Amino acid sequence: MKILVAGGGVAGLTLAYWLHRRGMTPVVAERSPEGRLGGYGFDLVGTGHDIAARMGIAGRLAARTLPIDSVDFVDGSGRTLARLGAPLLDRITRGRNLALLHSTLEDELIEAVRDDVEIRFDLPVESLVQDADGVTARFPGGEERFDLVVGADGVHSAVRRAIFGGDGHARHLGCTMACFPVPDRYGAGRVRTHYTEPGRQVVTYGTGRPGELIALFLFRDEPGPVPRAARLDRLRDVFAGAGWITPRLLADAPESREIFMDAMTQIELPRWHRGRVALIGDACGCLTLVSAQGVSMAMAGAYVLAEQLATADHRTAFARYERRLRPEVVRRQRNARLFARTLVPATRTGLAAQNLMSRFVMRDAFAPLLRRRFGADSILPA
Ligand SMILES: Cc1cc2nc3c(=O)[nH]c(=O)nc-3n(C[C@H](O)[C@H](O)[C@H](O)COP(=O)(O)OP(=O)(O)OC[C@H]3O[C@@H](n4cnc5c(N)ncnc54)[C@H](O)[C@@H]3O)c2cc1C
Repeated sequence: MKILVAGGGVAGLTLAYWLHRRGMTPVVAERSPEGRLGGYGFDLVGTGHDIAARMGIAGRLAARTLPIDSVDFVDGSGRTLARLGAPLLDRITRGRNLALLHSTLEDELIEAVRDDVEIRFDLPVESLVQDADGVTARFPGGEERFDLVVGADGVHSAVRRAIFGGDGHARHLGCTMACFPVPDRYGAGRVRTHYTEPGRQVVTYGTGRPGELIALFLFRDEPGPVPRAARLDRLRDVFAGAGWITPRLLADAPESREIFMDAMTQIELPRWHRGRVALIGDACGCLTLVSAQGVSMAMAGAYVLAEQLATADHRTAFARYERRLRPEVVRRQRNARLFARTLVPATRTGLAAQNLMSRFVMRDAFAPLLRRRFGADSILPA
């Protein structure tokens, strides 16, 4: 069975691996010209960690983790208000936590499939037409026939648009995020630091490359794309007068076009498949970074879908995959929406309450609560 996997991100590459392992022939079409470079950091825990271990790449990932000793919440003068230290993080994740750059995970996933799966870079899927026997995918300069198509092309999925139309499935969470690498002039590389003011937040952490940090900005905002050329100006406007090292981080920002910026948006669809086309990962169930479980759920969707396709016809497999995963995704989306309301508090009172709460919960007694919050247990049977 020849299956087009649209999108060579975490979901698409994980799916390609498991489809091949289960005897099918995936072809990955990835829009970008090469594997992703740089990007942002995340913690691979729970289901994502479990699947990486089943793929035999957890060891390689462990050798490439980010150097993070603690997660600190600071005030405008850099004084630590609350700290999540490595021992507590270990308790929460039961020692199964890999702090990674997104690009590192994709790198290792590409390595894991490189010899067995055809990956076509620089090949965006533009549109799809399906009939009873297959799907015709259109790419720049041509088209090709497949038995099935899986859209793993992220939150702005073209496959989703092709089969469900429009953008009416996006729920904006009232925040925009932006990030870029900056020089570490602060010796801050081994700590992930959060600094929050009413309506805006800055986070920094090391990339593992000597002297380099990622600066991540979150701010309350209306939905709507910001043209690439206007991104830096937008950040300078929103963060004007902000404390801590914020002005210096913005002074070190790269050219506006190199800044990643996107609205924090969840995707909610009545169905995740139609005919011979299905969606996985952010394309159908984007949780946003607030949930801290988007990578896990993207890998889980890929794993479960491949498992089902190996044992049933595509109609049954798509339905079983959705039945298994949707409740997990919907629950995490709901929790992320609740958390998003307090992540960047709008007022000084809200911020004071958040600081108090952070100090209160960062202790061993709350490890089980934090374990649920970060999805640190796998949803897959052992
Ligand atoms: C700043 C930021 C911080 C985050 N932090 C965390 C975190 O801490 N923890 C966590 O779990 N998650 C985090 N996330 C979310 C996480 O990155 C996503 O949930 C996860 O990457 C989803 O994987 P995916 O493969 O579905 O989508 P993506 O990773 O978006 O991959 C989609 C791929 O499809 C390609 N593509 C797009 N359109 C086309 C097309 N038409 N044809 C072919 N290819 C196409 C793209 O180039 C991309 O490679 C964060 C996200 C952001 C933006």
